Amino acid sequence: MPIEIYDGLKGQDENILKDIRKLVEKESPTLTKELVDQCGEEIQLLFKKYFNKAPKIYERTEYGNHLKYTFGEGEEQILISGHFDTVWPKGHLSYRVEENRAYGPGIIDMKGGLIIAIWALKTLLDLGVHFHKRIVFLCNSDHEGVASPDSRKIIEEEAQKSKAVLIPEAAEAGTNALKVERKGILRYTLYVKGKSAHSGNNHEEGVNAIVALAEIIKKIAEWTDYASGTTVNVGKMEGGTGVNVVPAKAQASVDIRVKTMEEANRMKKLMEELVIETEGAELEIQGGIVRPTLEQTPEAKKLYEIVKAYGDKFGYEVKAAKVGGGSDGSFASALGIPTLDGLGAAGAGPHAEHEHILINHLGVRTSLLAGLIYELTRE
Ligand SMILES: [Zn+2]
Repeated sequence: MPIEIYDGLKGQDENILKDIRKLVEKESPTLTKELVDQCGEEIQLLFKKYFNKAPKIYERTEYGNHLKYTFGEGEEQILISGHFDTVWPKGHLSYRVEENRAYGPGIIDMKGGLIIAIWALKTLLDLGVHFHKRIVFLCNSDHEGVASPDSRKIIEEEAQKSKAVLIPEAAEAGTNALKVERKGILRYTLYVKGKSAHSGNNHEEGVNAIVALAEIIKKIAEWTDYASGTTVNVGKMEGGTGVNVVPAKAQASVDIRVKTMEEANRMKKLMEELVIETEGAELEIQGGIVRPTLEQTPEAKKLYEIVKAYGDKFGYEVKAAKVGGGSDGSFASALGIPTLDGLGAAGAGPHAEHEHILINHLGVRTSLLAGLIYELTRE
């Protein structure tokens, strides 16, 4: 792989950062379509500027519009997929730079990665590289919190046609490693119905939905097993109408992470078989597996090795990590398509107040992705 790719990028950290700032400043909380679309428009400006390209736009009413760009030609296809919505409500965080760190909403998750991917393509095209495979670049908008319910079909359809799927999500914090395995995710909402009553006059006639739900919560929380990598997180609960009322309703949201699909199916069965012990209370469960696991197949391992070898050329150590967070790469991996994740920015704190990227890694991270794209589309 030509070292020119790296040479062309090593002085570009600040220029890459300028584009990242543009996207970060177009805040895009997943459920605010208007804002997400404004961020999508900024992405379109960048593609127009660098590639003179317009996207196929998937118009949506509930979520932001998804965008699809196509490069190169050939029967075979490579897919790059990244989301441009973020977990952050508007105005909660703002862009700022402190020494080598750039902070901001979605800067590592994953606007930095999207810009890295754009710059990777730009660098290759500037070098006169010809893509002998079609490259599809998907930008989806319904990732955070809701796990891509709308774009999943599009991602799967494009992945199905692809030889490899590249995900410029954040590198692992601390190690800057690529992500070769990810946990699968199950999500549930538990609804408990009891019977309301006056807490003073006829307490005995009520069925306390909160207490009934608490018993279930205690039971499922105990299914966490760090040794096998399974975690059950009851992340949100609500119920009741007032302190002097026996509550008739309570509900809780549950997030379960697993390392294998076998375990995902075991947990699914356990959830579906849950019964409520409290007499007079009723339980309704909604949910299921929302993200499959991302597992490293031998073919996926080859993708990792290409990147590692390219990093070695210019002295950047590329590592591999197994992580718990989900990404859209799991949809592709579950279809058996070789998938490599964590190809985006280095830094730390996705979903946390200190979310940031490391500025002096931007050029090298872009080189790694560009090197991989070069190798995959060379013939
Ligand atoms: Zn995220």
